[in-house]
Amino acid sequence: MFLLTDKPIQIPAQDHGGAGGFVTFEGKVRNHADGRAVHRLEYEAYPELAQNEGDKLVAEAIARFALLAVSVIHRVGVMEIGETAVLIQVASAHRREAFAGCEWIIDQLKIRVPIWKKETYQEGDSGWIGADVLAPDETFNSLFTTRQRTLEEVGDNGQEKLRNSRVLLVGVGGLGSASLPYLVGAGVGTLGLVDSDSIDPTNLHRQVIYQAQDAGRSKVERAAAFSKRLNPGVTIETFPYQLDESNVDSLVQAYDWIVDGTDSLAIKSLLNAACRRHRKILVSASVHRFEGQILTVTPDGPCLQCLFPEPPPEKCVGTCAETGILGVVPGLLGLLQANEVLKGILGYGELLSESMLLVDLRTGETTSLRRSKRAGCPGCAGQLPSSTEDLEVNSLQDCPEYLVVDIREFDELPELSIPHIRTPLSTFNRSVLTRPAVLICASGARSYRLVAQLRAEGFNEIFSLRGGVMEHSIA
Ligand SMILES: [Zn+2]
Repeated sequence: MFLLTDKPIQIPAQDHGGAGGFVTFEGKVRNHADGRAVHRLEYEAYPELAQNEGDKLVAEAIARFALLAVSVIHRVGVMEIGETAVLIQVASAHRREAFAGCEWIIDQLKIRVPIWKKETYQEGDSGWIGADVLAPDETFNSLFTTRQRTLEEVGDNGQEKLRNSRVLLVGVGGLGSASLPYLVGAGVGTLGLVDSDSIDPTNLHRQVIYQAQDAGRSKVERAAAFSKRLNPGVTIETFPYQLDESNVDSLVQAYDWIVDGTDSLAIKSLLNAACRRHRKILVSASVHRFEGQILTVTPDGPCLQCLFPEPPPEKCVGTCAETGILGVVPGLLGLLQANEVLKGILGYGELLSESMLLVDLRTGETTSLRRSKRAGCPGCAGQLPSSTEDLEVNSLQDCPEYLVVDIREFDELPELSIPHIRTPLSTFNRSVLTRPAVLICASGARSYRLVAQLRAEGFNEIFSLRGGVMEHSIA
């Protein structure tokens, strides 16, 4: 028997013919917890689920320990010090099973039955604690997904597709904190979480699935706990390390959908190439100050590198730590990422597979840019772009034999004071590139882009002078 009550618990007499042992456990409200004075205690239950889970627990205990009778009474609501919160009575043929069964029930009750405890201290209360992991349950699964199954785009079929899906979240920061709850909420069966970081108070304003008290703890571990509390039936696989070249293939291979929630251009390129190699779908988003962009790379559509052939020079785009960010920006973009995954799994609507959506949260303006495949794109073939270092030189002294090519327009002054060829970007003449060359512009930005383009066209040993005319005494 399992009973929830909001009335003070009276201890019934134990009586069972044939029983050689009776064990009674009484859990009382203590006046202290972890060294703090407790004034009173409150328990809150999800009644239908607690009853369901409690009944199963009692039946399991009887079978497991060959008990003759079990009674568990759990009080809910507000209790004063000294009152009985839980009463467990066990009868068995021998005392050994009675003790063991009773202890097992006490432990299982804490982790399986959805009853939350709040302790009130001198300085406030603890918030709801306990019932961290609830065993998956068909009744709950069914209730949990009722509202979305009603949609004809979902239905029982779609729900089953979601349950069988495997989604990898790379990064559980600002973007992941927004996509994760809704993917778990939608009933995605298995989620992988990759992140090597721990929770940092300076990030909590946008990483809202974490709590202040979790500072310093592993992000993937707390994100997993969050997910299990929301939907106990979800399977969470955690990878508390950085995604890199050595592990990207095994991670990507094991999932159907890859959600890029990082701000690292290097990781985006790695994911783009790996998703192409393994024919997985990548949903990538980026945020910068008040703006965000999102796109989806499918196995046969245009890839990330078709759109951005050259990796931008390092530090070209500031990170959140450098430029600042408002939490709602990754929040909205993370939601849009979850939306892409759900659309794709359920097969309704249109993916951002041939476009990129740009959102400006200051104006609410959205822009959709068409994307198309770029011939000869190495990303499409599962390869990485050449690294930034390969495209630039720091000084002309590093390459004394190289041809120097000034690509500034003719009205840009002053003239270079060193031997060079001048062919402006607007009318750039590729035929001058007969030997290794260094391209120069005013700041190094135009020459960098041109070098990237030329490399994509097959020109090797062409470099850009980092910093351009402004940073070198050559004019
Ligand atoms: Zn491509």
